[in-house]
Amino acid sequence: MSEQTFFLETQKQFREIAKILDMESEIIQELESPQRLIKFQIPVLMDNKKVKIFLGFRSQHNNALGPYKGGIRFHPQVSENEVKALSILMTWKCALAGLPFGGGKGGIIVDPRKLSRGELERLSKGYVQGIFPCIGPDIDVPAPDVNTNAQIMAWMTNEYSKLKGKDSPAAFTGKPLNLWGLKGREEATGYGGVVILEKLREIFGFKPKETTLAIQGFGNVGFNFARFAFQEGYKIIATSEQGGGIYVSEGLNPEQTLRCREEKGKIARCYCVGSVCDVNFGKQITNEQLLEMKVDILVPAAVEDVITKENASKIKAKYIIEMANNPVTSEADAILGNKGVISVPDILSNAGGVVASYFEWLQSKEKKRWQKKKVLNKLSKTLEKVFDEVWDLSKKESINLRKAAYLIAIDRVAKAIKKS
Ligand code: GLU
Repeated sequence: MSEQTFFLETQKQFREIAKILDMESEIIQELESPQRLIKFQIPVLMDNKKVKIFLGFRSQHNNALGPYKGGIRFHPQVSENEVKALSILMTWKCALAGLPFGGGKGGIIVDPRKLSRGELERLSKGYVQGIFPCIGPDIDVPAPDVNTNAQIMAWMTNEYSKLKGKDSPAAFTGKPLNLWGLKGREEATGYGGVVILEKLREIFGFKPKETTLAIQGFGNVGFNFARFAFQEGYKIIATSEQGGGIYVSEGLNPEQTLRCREEKGKIARCYCVGSVCDVNFGKQITNEQLLEMKVDILVPAAVEDVITKENASKIKAKYIIEMANNPVTSEADAILGNKGVISVPDILSNAGGVVASYFEWLQSKEKKRWQKKKVLNKLSKTLEKVFDEVWDLSKKESINLRKAAYLIAIDRVAKAIKKS
């Protein structure tokens, strides 16, 4: 799906809910597009002493509930329409989780793997120079997203504080611990996904040891989801990254897989040749094969639009926990619904990251350190409560979890607009 279609789909999804909520046309108009879109050039001095111009974006969708909040991604496929769509989803995600934040999303068109560390640092600081007047602890608070991490947030926070002339750790979240980063923030999204998995287990009564999982994506989100699910005793039989992955009939150990990937450079190289295995019983698979595998639970934790009308009918999993942003298109959603597949929408299952970001924002403002136990505890409690709300509404109205989640979230935003 093109980024243009992704944006139009996000708008369409919103309008459907707005209709059910009988929303006033002014509010529909306000919410169907971002309040502000910033598109700017970032000149970066490259190691060869030549200046290269990169293109950066920040979409600020809505701030009725609080400052805009959302990640910044570094990816060659970043586009205006993509950040616009993702910023809309952030507004719903924050509202659903009950956070005092609106929605934003940013990005730079770049393949960060092709930059040296120095170039990456100058690019990150250049992004902040370009966007400086439009962000801040009470205006718009960015965080990590695809291909960005705590180190990049550190460069950005330091640049922001320098331009502001004042230490401003609450301007970003997902920072390293020494910059008022939060213990547990790094693993929060994956951890939150497993809180949702455990809620499904409570309801449907499956036994972890007998429950198979396939996880697409082995970045921060996919790996941590795998790690916590493994700790709970689930059987992870497949995982993958961009170039493919492995199938392990007996179940894989995520830490061992990570070590092997680090050694070999690719997950797909962690397989068995004869009796010699890097990961016991590992066999190579493609991303398509992973999605269509016979498993109980499928966890798309990589990029958007991987389950589409083309492959939805081939999905064999009974449950989908959406850890990537928008991994299931609406056409695919309808096909899966007819097949009886239960899909937990991304704005619920991957909300752990932004909920932890909220804790980090508070901690950075108050300059009081939170213990990791407190972070994970509060995170579980928040997500369990949100899951129960969504589940109860879906049962009450006989609608799927996605529709229930969107109804709750969008209604909250519309009510906040009316009050302001
Ligand atoms: N990038 C994450 C998301 O899509 C986290 C955003 C944040 O913490 O602000 O939810």
